[in-house]
Amino acid sequence: MKIIHSDILSFPLYENQSFLVSKYQRLTRRIIAAGLASPDELLTPAEATLAQITRVHDPDYVDRLLKGQLSDHEIREVGLPWSPQIIERARRTAAATVETCRWALQQGVALHLGGGTHHAFSDRAKGFCWLNDCAIAAQAMIAEGLASRVLILDCDVHQGDGTAAIFRDAPNVFTFSIHGCTSYPYHRQPGDLDIDLPADAGTTAYLEALEKGLETALDRFQPELVIYLAGADVYEDDRFGCLALSREGIAQRDRMVLSRFAEFRIPVAVTLAGGYARLIEEAVEIHMQTARIAFEFHRSGYC
Ligand SMILES: [Zn+2]
Repeated sequence: MKIIHSDILSFPLYENQSFLVSKYQRLTRRIIAAGLASPDELLTPAEATLAQITRVHDPDYVDRLLKGQLSDHEIREVGLPWSPQIIERARRTAAATVETCRWALQQGVALHLGGGTHHAFSDRAKGFCWLNDCAIAAQAMIAEGLASRVLILDCDVHQGDGTAAIFRDAPNVFTFSIHGCTSYPYHRQPGDLDIDLPADAGTTAYLEALEKGLETALDRFQPELVIYLAGADVYEDDRFGCLALSREGIAQRDRMVLSRFAEFRIPVAVTLAGGYARLIEEAVEIHMQTARIAFEFHRSGYC
């Protein structure tokens, strides 16, 4: 199975960046140590092109983003300091999700060790997200004629507000977000299907709701490709989450998602999205678990 990673840059770090960069570096080492991929098999993409980005993002916003001309208010909204390196990273993250979709279409399941920057709107950065990698990837697949109907399944604990707003009137992209009701963002954007769970819902209630949601999504929309945000921040000991899933419950979630789409031979591009467990190793372990499950499905001859 192809594993794509965009985690090649290091630079002076703000607290949340430090956690994330360290998490992804540890994860990459674990992937290699576990024999899921050799260093040469980890693909590192170039940056997303301007044409790919501006299919989703407002050209004026993109211009100001690349030149470092966002206002103080806009920078506060994203919660991270601007730097050329962090924008290069955002562009590589978007390109990595594009590549992950391409590989998924060829081999059934592919994995990006990152991505899921779902709070970025067409014309603004928000919540650690500068560019919406999943939206850029969905539009790239449609523009290139590789898929005509894309489902974005967002299982991060936070609603995919940017993604929902971007595709509000798009008939060929279906946005389904299942998230926690007390979590950021406080102003939801209506997607095609939203499930807002109560705080501390726990594993059983979550899995029941997800199962029904998958049924509804498949009834209403027949995707040719799924982009899956396998957020680890649904975990019970996540600093920013509220849904209180166990680690085993998250494994059940990943298996439920992949088996549902495998049944219909619908390719799935997996991105990891959020994960901020109090102990960094736990966040890494949950992402590793998702990677192992993706491998199981790949090995079982998914498509
Ligand atoms: Zn999140």
